[in-house]
This record gives sequence, C-alpha cells and structure tokens, in this order.
Amino acid sequence: MKVILAQPRGFCAGVERAIEIVERALEKYGPPIYVRHEIVHNRHVVDRLRAKGVIFVEDVDGVPPGSVTIFSAHGVSTEVERTALGRDLHVIDATCPLVARVHIEGARYSRQGRTVVLVGHAGHPEVEGTIGRLDGRVHLVSSVGDVAELDIDGTEDVAYITQTTLSVDDTRVIIDALKQRFPGIVGPDTKDICYATQNRQRAVRELAQQVDLVLVVGAPNSSNSNRLREIAEIAGVPSRLIEDASVLDPQWLDGARAVGITAGASAPDDLVQDLIATLGRLTDIQLEVLPGVEEAIHFRLPAELAPNGGE
Ligand code: SF4
Repeated sequence: MKVILAQPRGFCAGVERAIEIVERALEKYGPPIYVRHEIVHNRHVVDRLRAKGVIFVEDVDGVPPGSVTIFSAHGVSTEVERTALGRDLHVIDATCPLVARVHIEGARYSRQGRTVVLVGHAGHPEVEGTIGRLDGRVHLVSSVGDVAELDIDGTEDVAYITQTTLSVDDTRVIIDALKQRFPGIVGPDTKDICYATQNRQRAVRELAQQVDLVLVVGAPNSSNSNRLREIAEIAGVPSRLIEDASVLDPQWLDGARAVGITAGASAPDDLVQDLIATLGRLTDIQLEVLPGVEEAIHFRLPAELAPNGGE
C-alpha cells in the first residue's frame, strides 16, 4: 500500500513559537508556570508540558498573584488581560502574531465607527478573544444563512474580519454573501486566513486526488484540522480525523491502495511518524512525500525569552 504524506503538514510557526515560549519560561522561571487554555489544541502537547510543571487553567481568576502566566496562541480578550493585570500576574503573551494582526485590524474598523462582522466559529477561543477586543458593535457569522439574519440596518458602515483557520472556499462564499447584502462593506478578503491554514488546505486537496483514504492527525477541537478533513471529504475521499495512531481502525484500510496522511497545525510530527509505523506493522507500505511549499516562516519570541534578550 502506498502511504503519501501531504506537504506542508503539521506544526506552523505560531504553534512552534507558543510551545517554545512555554519551554523557555519553564527554564527561566521554573515550575509552576500557568497557561490559560490549552497552549495549542493538542492533548499530546498539553500532557508533555503538564508533566514538566505547567498548570493549564481556563480562567486566570484562580491563578496565584504574581505567577508567570502564558496566554495561548489563540489570543485573549481585553477583559482577560485586565483580570490578569488586576491579579498582578507576570503575563507572557503567546498569541500568534497572525491572530494579533486580526485583532489590530478589527480594532481599526471599530475605531472608524464601523460595525464589524467576524466570520468564524462560535465558542472557539480565537473567536472569543477577537470579539472581546472590539469595543464597538460586533456580530459573528459562520454561514451564509447567518448573513441573511444579521440585525444590521442600512445606515451602518460595515466591515468584516475572519478567523485565521477557516476553510478558504467556505469563507469566500460567506464574504460574497456579505458583499451582496452590504455593498459598501470593507474587509481583507480571505487574507486573514493564515498562510499555514491556506498551505495545508491546498496540500490536502492535492493529496485527496491521489489516495483512497485521507487520515488527518489532529485534535477534535482543532479548527484547522477539522477543515482539512472536510476538504478531503468534499474532494470525494473518505477522511478521518484521528488524535493519534491508537485510534486507527484497520478496517478503514480495506481496499485502499493508497492512504494519504496530513496533520493539523498543532499536531506534532512524532504522531505522524507513529501513524506511519503503525501502518507499516499492518501491511507493506511504500512511503512518498508530495512536493509542496517549504515553509520558512518563524516568529520572534517575546523579548524576555529571546536568546539575546530580544536584541
Ligand atoms: S494556524 Fe496560523 S494563526 Fe494559528 S497559530 Fe498557526 S500560524 Fe498562527
């Protein structure tokens, strides 16, 4: 059986930076280090950091005053920042710079007096953080149906922004619906969807053309991983989102001559390697990697954790 790997797949620059921030904070300040929310959406990553002395909390309310506290890659609302300040926490912000860019863009639209429509998924921490940074009027839509139901009158100036990990195709349809309903609307088109999300989506689409089954390594609550699975499925190939090789069902492989593997932006590469090894124990495999974009993006660490102090 052929096993074909999508390229690129797995960790993005924002996830690498967030994990490195936690590891360097552990080295510099020692445990315990508090992290608000899962630093990135992956249980394996979270468990490994927990074993090194990281305490994950959903709320900064209970963190002992003065403690080193890291905000996750998904970003936080200004209310969370205020609470952390009130508790005198030593905050290190691991918000991905590409999420922070959306915050800045949204705030600019709010300052211009525009009503902001955020295209994104309700309940996702990135969406909660972004909404919580906008002072003015803000609405959330996740479908064309939501656009039709928006309670915005014709006198308002309107802008839109988007979550970073959406499906490019779905988002384009929603943006078209927004433009139709609000002809004067301004926004970034699909540019808020980050490079890593776009590259992985393009790669999985290509992968799906060459295989009989796509396995996406990623967490069930990882937005970009879920989109990869959906895209493969839309391309007409059965697709499974799996946390790791332990949940692989050998029956999925029945009749498959080629199996494709990709991984969400928060899935470590060793989980992909484990999956390949597991497939290799079930049958003879021939491994191939698709040609694709080589990503060379790195984000700077916060100055207090940079090797040369941020110089
Ligand atoms: S998926 Fe994109 S926005 Fe999210 S952490 Fe990675 S690079 Fe940043």
